[in-house]
Amino acid sequence: MTGGINQEIEDLHWNLGLLQNLEVGLVVLDRDSYICMWNGFMENHSGISASKAIHQNLFSLYPELPAPWLQKQIEAVLLLSNTAYISWEQRPYLFPFKSHRPITGSAPYMYQNVTLIPLSSPTGQIDHIGILIYDVTDNAIGQQKLEAANQQLQSLSRTDGLTGLNNRAYWQECLEKEFDRFARQQETSSVIMFDIDHFKKVNDSYGHQAGDMVIQTIAQTLGQYVRKTDIAGRYGGEEFGAILVGTCGENAKVFAERLRSAVEATVMPYGEHRLSVTISVGIAEVTFEQASALEWLEQADQALYTSKQNGRNQVTRFE
Ligand code: GH3
Ligand code: MG
Ligand code: MG
Repeated sequence: MTGGINQEIEDLHWNLGLLQNLEVGLVVLDRDSYICMWNGFMENHSGISASKAIHQNLFSLYPELPAPWLQKQIEAVLLLSNTAYISWEQRPYLFPFKSHRPITGSAPYMYQNVTLIPLSSPTGQIDHIGILIYDVTDNAIGQQKLEAANQQLQSLSRTDGLTGLNNRAYWQECLEKEFDRFARQQETSSVIMFDIDHFKKVNDSYGHQAGDMVIQTIAQTLGQYVRKTDIAGRYGGEEFGAILVGTCGENAKVFAERLRSAVEATVMPYGEHRLSVTISVGIAEVTFEQASALEWLEQADQALYTSKQNGRNQVTRFE
């Protein structure tokens, strides 16, 4: 049937034309990784023409490829006759192509999804492999931007606007986590609470803005004194808290005393004025007697109240 053969050849031309102009990269390899097909997409992005690529070994032509990894993937596909999918999240790209998308100018390279397909010959044997390269740069950049925005949003929702410290809600969440951790691992920790003494006077004498500046300065001092693993927060107006992770009550007292004296020594210029304040501090170590994180916190608050009652500018540990 000559008509049939003509039809087949016509179909082949059709297909080749399609594959040639596909917006997807197509490489066909034989079992020894010699290139049998290299379509227009591959020519455009690699700068290597099909006539130069065909009959070359892929790994000699492209030494930048992750050869051991890709060879392992290819072997598995040939052995199991299964298609393999590799997403950009697993491996950002296979071929180091530049990104040509103007709107994604921020991408240093073309992100790629890759599919490896076993190709069977007319006799049914798998002796070739097709590699499809999808340009997914837009998706990848979109997703990365979304993740960055989510992270920013999360950090904003945890941060106090005036001081940059953790806000009350997040700080309390951390306190609860620390309390639960103690129940599991019995690692001691302490919480301190402090409140600025006679703060109303600052507002009344110098104005609310001066008061804000004082709150910011005290927050900075707190931030400088805590360790990386400690968690500092603004609990309310001019009240602060710090979770001293892994610190016993005795050492927490040493920390608190140092902080108290640092605040006392801090002079804050405001116009022609020089402001200074003191703080009253309460400390509570975590114990098995406390029923909840809230009770732990209340003990520190009670100790803080005692500091106020005994004349302010001092540290009290809950007994
Ligand atoms: P005490 O020594 O007993 O703590 O006296 P105090 O004057 O500090 O009393 P209290 O803690 O009750 O007063 C807190 C004041 O802090 C009342 C409120 O107007 C002020 N305040 C709360 N939040 C802010 C803030 O964000 N900025 C400013 N400037 N003032 C605030
Ligand atoms: Mg106060
Ligand atoms: Mg107060």
